[in-house]
Amino acid sequence: MSWHKMLPGPRWLPNAALMHPQRVVVVGFSIAMLLMFIVGVRDLYLLRERVLSLHQHDVALRARGTEAVINSERFKLSFLRDYAQQLIELQQGAGRVTGDDAIEQAYAARNDHVWQLPVPFGDSPVVGVSPDVMKGLAGFDRRDDELRADLRAARQLSHVLGVNQRSNRSEGNFTFISSNGFYVTYPPLPLDKAPELIRRFNDMAYYRGLLPDRDPNQDMRWAPIYTQYESAALLTTLSVPVYVEKRFRGVVAVDVELSLLRDMIGQPEVVGARRYLLDRKGDAIVSSETKDRTNLRWPDDFGKGLRNIPVTKLYARGAGMLHVDGQYVIFERVGSAGNWMLIDTLDDLDVYRTVAERTSLPLLAIWIALPLLMYITLRVVTLLFRHYLAAGEKLQQMAETDPLTGLANRRHFSDAYRKESARALRDEKPLAMLMLDIDFFKRVNDKWGHASGDRVLTALADVLRNSLRAADLPARLGGEEFAVLLPGATMIEATATAERLRVAMAAASVEPAPDAPPPETGDGRIRFTVSIGVAEAVTDGCRTLDAMLAVADRRLYAAKQAGRNRVCAADALADCAAAPQVQG
Ligand code: GH3
Ligand code: MG
Ligand code: MG
Repeated sequence: MSWHKMLPGPRWLPNAALMHPQRVVVVGFSIAMLLMFIVGVRDLYLLRERVLSLHQHDVALRARGTEAVINSERFKLSFLRDYAQQLIELQQGAGRVTGDDAIEQAYAARNDHVWQLPVPFGDSPVVGVSPDVMKGLAGFDRRDDELRADLRAARQLSHVLGVNQRSNRSEGNFTFISSNGFYVTYPPLPLDKAPELIRRFNDMAYYRGLLPDRDPNQDMRWAPIYTQYESAALLTTLSVPVYVEKRFRGVVAVDVELSLLRDMIGQPEVVGARRYLLDRKGDAIVSSETKDRTNLRWPDDFGKGLRNIPVTKLYARGAGMLHVDGQYVIFERVGSAGNWMLIDTLDDLDVYRTVAERTSLPLLAIWIALPLLMYITLRVVTLLFRHYLAAGEKLQQMAETDPLTGLANRRHFSDAYRKESARALRDEKPLAMLMLDIDFFKRVNDKWGHASGDRVLTALADVLRNSLRAADLPARLGGEEFAVLLPGATMIEATATAERLRVAMAAASVEPAPDAPPPETGDGRIRFTVSIGVAEAVTDGCRTLDAMLAVADRRLYAAKQAGRNRVCAADALADCAAAPQVQG
């Protein structure tokens, strides 16, 4: 009889699971956690993809916006350039128009160190320098025959620049620089600085870079970042050359403040990411990070892993994402044929940080809750398990033991017999059995009372327990009848054990129960004897418990007949060992 059969449980659950409920809980929860883990990792992976594709989308949108803003600048600049070209062409065609005092006055002063063409109030002044100042400057060359036409054109341009500036202050300065040695710019710059400015223009990328030998395509271009003349503002300039009759005649330029460009490209949404606007050569025109030094150049200044990605490759691909050495590069060309590239750089850590920030809270909560729940469930199951274990053991013990003496009862005795007889048969070992009955027990009850009789039964059980081997099984079959199973004992050994028991019983004495009447004689203690019948499976040819009990009982009866307080191991009355009579 196994205790766990008493546990409640669904029939389909295997017994092994019932035996180890903790294991069932751990395995169950482990499967749940594994599934959650798989779902979680998949979610994180998808989230990472989403963060990157959103970022890519953001860069693409910004590139469109940047394209729109740059196009509007280009448009204005193209318009001004076309206007300048047309004006010069027109004025050249008009030839030497006399009678324009302002032009003549300026023309007369053309060889002064610094000179000026008077313009209507509010327009940008036209300021020139002497040919001496232009000496050695590649971008400037005084041509007197063209000067009047150039000046007349500049005066018209000055008006447009002034109107444009006054109407829209937020945009950068527009400037026309004539290769003939003068310039018109709004707002006006100090007159005495003119020679210095002409020399400076000659060195600036937005002018020098557009000279015919450097810019054969007559392209519009961004100048790298520089600090504005006599002010701390960081600027970049969009400029385009003016050509009339295939001859370089100067440059129209618009300054764009870096902060404006930075606003234009915006900030990447992923924390830690940086955005740059690169030109065709890979020079960073602006960075989203104000602390970045200016004039960064792709790819040398953008981390080791990116060294092998030339800017031409980015332009060729147009848009995309690269992942090199733990760094992402998301790039998008500004306009399909544009000369600018919007580029975001971010590393794995930035992406994972963003993913972590966007990880769903319920998922996290479940991840934390599952192990906690498992722990609590384990505790509960363990406690329940222990409770049922103890209850089961107690039940089993109750079902197997005699409550008065604590010895095995008849049921347990017959279970034990079944096991032992099978083993004896298999091992070809003897199996002996004793049957005991207290002599004149009725008299004990009569004289000392039933409670004292019970004490005698308990004392007898104690003697049995103390006198037998661990393998032997004493049992109370009922009333004052006891039996002992002696596995491996031969008839001779069993008889000796019986005799030993008989002697021990006879020597024992029992304290009467409190309700016992006062004794008339003796020391006031109860004494008792037993008669014992012995049987042995092989010798007696017994195959069943009943058969064996019958033999033992028959010999017990013989012992009684022979005078009690004796052991009988044979059926012949004479064979029953004689025993001394005890006083009782
Ligand atoms: P003998 O066996 O020597 O022939 O005489 P006896 O007096 O023992 O006779 P018998 O076996 O017929 O009597 C058994 C008595 O044991 C009957 C009953 O009163 C008593 N008895 C049986 N069970 C218990 C018990 O649990 N407690 C007590 N106190 N007495 C019991
Ligand atoms: Mg009896
Ligand atoms: Mg008796």
